[in-house]
Amino acid sequence: MTEQKQFRAIKGTRDIQPPDSTLWNWFEQSARDVFESYNFREIRLPIFEETSLFARSVGGETDIVSKEMYSFPDRSTSSDATADAGDLISLRPEATASTMRAYIEHGMHALPGNVKLYYMGPMFRRERPQKGRYRQFYQIGAEVLGQSDAPAIDAEVIEMLMTFFSRVGLIRTTLYINSIGDKNCRPQYVELLRAELRKVKDQLGADSQRRIETNPLRVLDSKIPQEQEIIAKLPKISEHSCDACREHFAKLKEELKLRGVSYQENWRLVRGLDYYTRTTFEVIAEGLGSQNAVCGGGRYDGLVELLGGPPTKGIGFAIGTDRAILSIQESGNLPKLPGLDVFVAWLGLEAYPTAVGLTKKLREAGLSVELPGEEMKFKKSLNLADKLGARYALIIGSDEVATGRFTLKRLADADQKKLSEYELLEYLESERRGTRG
Ligand code: AMP
Repeated sequence: MTEQKQFRAIKGTRDIQPPDSTLWNWFEQSARDVFESYNFREIRLPIFEETSLFARSVGGETDIVSKEMYSFPDRSTSSDATADAGDLISLRPEATASTMRAYIEHGMHALPGNVKLYYMGPMFRRERPQKGRYRQFYQIGAEVLGQSDAPAIDAEVIEMLMTFFSRVGLIRTTLYINSIGDKNCRPQYVELLRAELRKVKDQLGADSQRRIETNPLRVLDSKIPQEQEIIAKLPKISEHSCDACREHFAKLKEELKLRGVSYQENWRLVRGLDYYTRTTFEVIAEGLGSQNAVCGGGRYDGLVELLGGPPTKGIGFAIGTDRAILSIQESGNLPKLPGLDVFVAWLGLEAYPTAVGLTKKLREAGLSVELPGEEMKFKKSLNLADKLGARYALIIGSDEVATGRFTLKRLADADQKKLSEYELLEYLESERRGTRG
């Protein structure tokens, strides 16, 4: 006999099961609430796009695009089977590119004011899986697009991010900020950095050696212990940025103080892509080991143009939902989340119609109710209610049906009350408001 294949989720993917999914929903809903209070609105984007969109925006030379994308030729729609395969498409490794594509495609530059969008959903990168690093992971991101690059916009985006983190109890975090200059001052700095790096080339590892020529800024990112002392002595961009960039950064810091956002400056926080300008930021959280970045963001004033759109300023961030939730779980600072409110323990077939009717009313009142579909012995019924974590058992037997008064038993301490239908609904509803806020 051949053995049945045991299917498993593909390496780097996982199932978010209950009760974790409840935590995820609450986390995502909190993001919606906070972001919408800052007048951001959701954009729902496709999961896949033309590969060339990512190659152009994220950059063909980045690891993400060159090694990590799930790409495949789309099947041709032509009826001729010998026709060429369709375009190369990719599962999105991030969603900023799609947001820009949508902004351009729908002419959003013509909308009044700044365009403030947020998105959430799965991203795909073929990375080596480890704790906090998956091949299908989830991001929540926000972008502001428009004509202004006022430091107040950067500060508001960062304030919103930190407000969200504090709302969900992600408080053991550090916000790092930096300014990486613009097209006027960065090229000279990059050349200076390259020249300095060439002098110390033989003291650096292979990756950093390669980056001296391809992308010297990325050397500053290095986590290799032996390189740290050398990097510490390299010229800092803040000492070489132009007046406009310097002023923008100074105003950003003032704005953050005004908004009560604490931060640390980190001159080594860079983005390897050319279109990034000025503000960059990152948030790290405790309890995550080496994969401790929970959000990355920055200003990308040239991106819309790079993709064929009109001159547009932009800033945004992407939160790694998997890691943020992992950090909340590790901290033990978990919210009280809605669970099963009432288990209806009905006894005897004559009680069943009343049980069905009452269950419907409780559910309409917003309570979570479990109604067994088959008659159960009383003890077994209460046992199951307990195991399911119900807060109350509602006992409906022939007595209750006859008198119209039902027994509500609180399972935590076995406290019991007899209540009419009206009292029952009143009591449970007010109780729910109290416990769920
Ligand atoms: P990035 O789009 O690379 O700037 O990443 C933004 C955030 O997404 C990071 O700070 C991480 O929290 C999260 N992230 C990126 N890649 C992964 C991954 N493979 N698995 C889980 N989270 C990730």
